[in-house]
Amino acid sequence: MNEHAQKAAEFIRDESRTDWHDEALWFVRAKRDKASHGIPEWEQLRELASRVKDNVLSNLDQYLEQFEDRALQNGVHVHWAADAEEHNRIVHGILEKHQVQRLVKSKSMLTEECRLNEYLIQRGIEVVDTDLGERIIQMREEPPSHIVMPAIHLKKEEVGELFHEKLHTEKGATDPQYLTEAARQHLRQKFLAAQAAITGVNFAIAETGGVVVCTNEGNADMGVHLAPVQIHCMGIEKIIPRAEHLGIFTRLLARSATGQPITIYTSHYHRPRPDGEMHIVIVDNGRTAQLGRADFRNSLKCIRCGACMNTCPIYRRSGGHSYDATVPGPIGSILTPGIDLKKYSGLPFASTLCGSCSDVCPVKINIHEQLYMWRQIIAEEGHLPPAKKQSMKWAGRVLARPGWYNIAGKAARWAMRWLPRPFLYNRLNEWGKARELPEPPKQSFKEWYQQKGLTSFSEPPPRKLVKPK
Ligand code: SF4
Repeated sequence: MNEHAQKAAEFIRDESRTDWHDEALWFVRAKRDKASHGIPEWEQLRELASRVKDNVLSNLDQYLEQFEDRALQNGVHVHWAADAEEHNRIVHGILEKHQVQRLVKSKSMLTEECRLNEYLIQRGIEVVDTDLGERIIQMREEPPSHIVMPAIHLKKEEVGELFHEKLHTEKGATDPQYLTEAARQHLRQKFLAAQAAITGVNFAIAETGGVVVCTNEGNADMGVHLAPVQIHCMGIEKIIPRAEHLGIFTRLLARSATGQPITIYTSHYHRPRPDGEMHIVIVDNGRTAQLGRADFRNSLKCIRCGACMNTCPIYRRSGGHSYDATVPGPIGSILTPGIDLKKYSGLPFASTLCGSCSDVCPVKINIHEQLYMWRQIIAEEGHLPPAKKQSMKWAGRVLARPGWYNIAGKAARWAMRWLPRPFLYNRLNEWGKARELPEPPKQSFKEWYQQKGLTSFSEPPPRKLVKPK
C-alpha cells in the first residue's frame, strides 16, 4: 500500500468524519456551481483566463523583468530566489536587518512550500499566521489540509478544545461566534506587536509592478498597515500582464473557491508607505523545470482556488493530509511528482480520472489528463509497486488476447458465484475492503450480444422501421 493509501485508510476509519468532510466540501462545490451559473459569460471568462496564462507562460521572462523594473521604479526592493532555501535566507536577511523578533503572516502556500515558519522559528523569530484557519492549524502544529480552507478537516468541537487549551476559552465551548471572537482578541495583540508582515501574492501585475492579495478576513491589510516592514512572497507564475486582466481572474477566483462573487478584500500593494520598506521575493523552486515539461506546463496556470479539491471524490473522502504534500488534491498530484517522482509516485493514482477537476478548473487546466500522463511516466520509470506492476503486466497480456480474456471472464464469473467469501475478500483484494463486488452476470456481454443473433461488433443491429400511423 502506498503512503497516500495508508494515510487515507487512517482518515476513513472515522466514518462520520469522512461523511462530514465529503458533505462539507460538496456544499462548497454546489455554491461554486450556483455562482458560476449566475454569470452567462462564465465559459468565455475561463477561456480568456486560460489564454492570458498561455501568453504569460510563453513570455514569462519578459513579464518578470517588466514587473521587476516597474516595482523598482515604485521604490520596492525585489529579490530573486532559485529555491526554498534561498527564499528563506532572503526573508530572514530582511528581518535580521530590521531586528525583527515578531511578525505576522497572512496565508501563503508558497511560504508553506518553503517551510518558512520552521526556518524563522528556529532562528528565534515569533511567526504568527493570522488567517483564522491557518492560526488553528499552526496551534495544532500541523500543515493545511486544503489550500483555501486550511482547517476544513476539523470540527468545531476540536477547535473549541484547542482554544480552551491555548487561549483559555470556556471548556466545552463550541459556538463559532464565541470562538472567533476569542481568536480575534488573541490576534489583535499579535498584530499590534508585529514588527514585520509577510503575505503571499495572488496576482503580480507586470504593467504596474504591484501585487494583489485576496483575503476574506482582511488580515493581510491589517498586518501590512501596522508593521513598518512588508514582505510579499510570490512564485514566478503569479504574473499577469496588465491591470485590465485582473478582473478576469478575480471574478473566477472567488466564485471557484467559495462560491462568493468576490473575495471580501482584494488589496493592491504598489509602493512602500512613507516610513516603511516593501520587499517582493520572486521564487522559482522547481517552477522553471515544470515549465520545461511540455505535458505539464499548463499546471502553472493554477490560481489556487481549490475548486478541484472540492469536487474530487478521492480528496473529499481521504482528506488533505493523506497526500503528504503542500498542495494536496488533484493539482498537487500533478505538481508534486515534478519535485520528487519517487516519493510522490502514488499521488497520480489517487484519482478516479473522472475529469470533474478539469471541468471546474477556472483556468481550464487538463488536470485528469496530466494525472494520466504522470501514471505512464511513473510506470515507465519503474516506480510502480511490484505487485501493481505484475498485475498490470498480466492484465495487459490478457486484454491483448481475446481467447484468454474469454477464459478469464468465465473463471471470474464462476469464482464470484461459487468461491467462499474469504477467498474473495482478503487482504489481496484492496477493492473489497470498502466495497462489495457486483453480482456476477450469467454470461459475458459478448455471449449476450451473440445470443441476440449478432455475430460482429462492427455490424449494427438490424433496425425495424416503425411507420408513422
Ligand atoms: S488546478 Fe484549477 S481548480 Fe485546481 S486549484 Fe488550480 S485553478 Fe483551482
